Amino acid sequence: MKGGTGRTLALATMLALIVLGIHRLRGPEADVEVRDTRYVFGTLVEIVVRGADPVEARTAVSATGRLLQTLHHDWHAWRPGALSTLNDAIADGRAAEVDPQLADLLRAGQQLACASEGLFNPGIGRLVALWGFHADTPPQSPPPAASEIAALRAADPQMTDLVIDGQIVRSTNPSLQLDLGGYAKGAALDLAAADLAARGIRDAVLNAGGDVNVLGDHGARPWRVAIRDPFVWGALATVTLDPGEVLYTSGNYERYFEHEGERFAHIIDPRSGHPVREIVSVSVLDTEGVRADAAATALSVAGRERFAAVAAALEIDAAVMVTDRGEVLATPAMVKRIEASGGPLPAGLTTVALPADVQPSPCGAQTGPEPS
Ligand code: ADP
Ligand code: MG
Repeated sequence: MKGGTGRTLALATMLALIVLGIHRLRGPEADVEVRDTRYVFGTLVEIVVRGADPVEARTAVSATGRLLQTLHHDWHAWRPGALSTLNDAIADGRAAEVDPQLADLLRAGQQLACASEGLFNPGIGRLVALWGFHADTPPQSPPPAASEIAALRAADPQMTDLVIDGQIVRSTNPSLQLDLGGYAKGAALDLAAADLAARGIRDAVLNAGGDVNVLGDHGARPWRVAIRDPFVWGALATVTLDPGEVLYTSGNYERYFEHEGERFAHIIDPRSGHPVREIVSVSVLDTEGVRADAAATALSVAGRERFAAVAAALEIDAAVMVTDRGEVLATPAMVKRIEASGGPLPAGLTTVALPADVQPSPCGAQTGPEPS
């Protein structure tokens, strides 16, 4: 009997080990989600890691969260930090040294500004400030005087005024002030996604208030994200993201102020010096946050007439635009990807073909020498 009990125990232990082993092989963590949430870049940014060892995932999301916090501080448009130090130097006509990440971001800004023919212009910080958007809460004051807007337009700050020599940056135009709000979030989420991947994380989503980068998938199914309906609370449509894809939305329904019944949004048309009116939201599906974020802003300025031309110039295939009249315009690639969320696809969806004859952009040549 004794021997029998011993054998039973051994068998039970072996079975337990096998079960544990199978459980481990399947990954007890398969369903585990580990999160980190921070208030950065003017919104709540949530990092969700799935299917990783919980301890490793916790270490990774904390480190990546701290990276986002650092970038938020360094690239802030009006609080003291690396960017404000550079802006002060530019205003004084001095050169300043920046870190390699900021130098890269500025070079990308030059390229995107050039490709968008200046509709995307991160050098219009003075205009953004003049309209009162260099504050945590929307402005309460009336719009600025026409003469002040005209003066800043006449000063004509362009990203080509920036001279970037490795990590040394100066501007030939002292009126240029950098405000990276149009693409910093995308650039930051790209760096954060790369950071998670370098830490061995395969499946994750980084969600900055609807601006999303994904790594891998959501276990057995892909990541699905919603495009917010700018008019009512809810989703306009949903998109299933392939590993490594991003979806970014810009709109005038979140950061704006109203004065005498008129809405003034935080996206400024550099040509007029005034906030955009016609466009309520633009969403861009791409593989790079930095480009998608900049493109969503640029397309908001471009408006319905220039939608296809500017998307093509920025090498964006999939974009959807909602106008103030409720029209929904989408490129063919976006039409293929958007799915109805509970109801039919947006009424009045119009497919807008991209021009076929886009010349290769000459904009790469505008960026400065690579850092040594
Ligand atoms: P969100 O921050 O809501 O994602 P955007 O990506 O469109 O929206 O960024 C808007 C921000 O970009 C503004 O708050 C301002 O900092 C900056 N900005 C405004 N107009 C322009 C423009 N024409 N080009 C580049 N940046 C802009
Ligand atoms: Mg943007």
